[in-house]
Amino acid sequence: MKTHPLYLNGDWFAASPFQQVNNPATGEILAQVATIDRQRVAQALADAHAAFLRWRKLPGKTRGEFLHAIADEIETRSAEIARTITLENGKPLAQSQGEVGMTVDHLRWFAEEARRAYGRIVPHQVDGKRHLVVKSPLGVVGAITPWNFPLVLAVRKMAPALAAGNTFVLKPAEQTPLSAVALAECVAAAGLPNGVFQVVLGDAPEIGREFLENPLCRKVTFTGSTEVGRLLIAGAAATVKPLSLELGGHAPVLVFDDIELHRAVEGALIAKTRNTGQSCIAANRIYVQRSIYDEFASAFTARMQAMKVGDGLTPGMDIGPLIDDAGLQKALAHIEDAVARGARLLCGGKRLGAQGYFIEPTVLADVPPGALCLREETFAPVAAIAPFDTEEEAIAQANDSSYGLSAYAFTGSLDRAFRLLESLEAGTIGINDGVPSTSNCPFGGVKQSGWGRELGSEGLDAFLETKHVSLGLQL
Ligand code: ADP
Repeated sequence: MKTHPLYLNGDWFAASPFQQVNNPATGEILAQVATIDRQRVAQALADAHAAFLRWRKLPGKTRGEFLHAIADEIETRSAEIARTITLENGKPLAQSQGEVGMTVDHLRWFAEEARRAYGRIVPHQVDGKRHLVVKSPLGVVGAITPWNFPLVLAVRKMAPALAAGNTFVLKPAEQTPLSAVALAECVAAAGLPNGVFQVVLGDAPEIGREFLENPLCRKVTFTGSTEVGRLLIAGAAATVKPLSLELGGHAPVLVFDDIELHRAVEGALIAKTRNTGQSCIAANRIYVQRSIYDEFASAFTARMQAMKVGDGLTPGMDIGPLIDDAGLQKALAHIEDAVARGARLLCGGKRLGAQGYFIEPTVLADVPPGALCLREETFAPVAAIAPFDTEEEAIAQANDSSYGLSAYAFTGSLDRAFRLLESLEAGTIGINDGVPSTSNCPFGGVKQSGWGRELGSEGLDAFLETKHVSLGLQL
């Protein structure tokens, strides 16, 4: 079995205890990665701080050139890195290739944004004064990332943080640290100065506490569950540590009877099944106008049944395994609960095979409002469908959630589209679009889906401090 080291201050560090990494398609152990204790994490933060004092002085253009160099390395190794993502996460290889492509695009977007950390000059109110608004990096950033997009979600934080002049310590998810190690190899090959980017792994709550309590760490950026987000908010109280939080989602899809059916079916299908349904913007609740309800349900079910499920390395797969047994059991419990409450099972409903964590693509219709799958993230290729009559009722159902990361609507009416985009409580809204995310637009949640925005120009601003400088002048 291959042992992977961590990347600390420009060196490769491999010491026990090791974190084992499983292949969710087979349940087999793939590799192991070194871990470190809290004291060594503190050392990483100190090294990151020393590196910050030099990194922040580089022109934004130069930092951008380093990001382009990392992107070049990733592109050169894209086939192998995509394979690593599929091996540790399970997603179909074509989707891993898509994740690598999006990662490169994020790096290149923020490489350019590095040159645009603009301040401004504000007209004075008193003679003999001039006012500047200046943007400065924060310092060391601690990042905690999840397993569902192991490469791109780390880079969505790292690229803007480095572009803005910060240094970065990444704690990847224990299920998928191999993508983070591959990223570190690309950073090393791109020649970034020691300590600018480091990868740590170990006891997650302890590392989280070190990030929150160590005064050298100036911001914690997190993508993961709302439960852990709440713990970080509580932990940040003592040091008033700034947080960016991208938490859970529970996306509604609204299908109106004025859209061509196939557009709604295909849009809902990709929003539901991409990443094996394990995306924070995955469609969880599909509300369909009653006049086309049966027609939509049967067309959507036919497409779900045609999805190819299997090992992500096998060519042509649409859906891979769930990440682990806990993920599988949660999905099965959501199905059982919905059926017990009177939902109709239109297809699927069971585990597939005995090896790995596969589930049949599942469609549940007439799901009643109290069902778990209409209240919580299912994180699986399990679609819950329910009818609505009026636009008002559809909006009320969509907004009836403590989450607000993304929402989707399919309609042929421009007037309705505007009413929806103004009323839907979500940070990302896909109208006739099941794949809305892009490097150049902000991404993040409202309500309990989080704080702050990633990507877009907002993504850079999240890693900048705003200073007002007042100059007293004799003119
Ligand atoms: P999921 O349920 O999708 O695995 P989590 O929120 O548990 O999501 O995990 C996301 C990331 O948060 C992972 O890197 C994990 O190691 C980390 N994590 C889990 N618990 C804590 C904690 N108490 N403090 C800090 N990080 C944590």
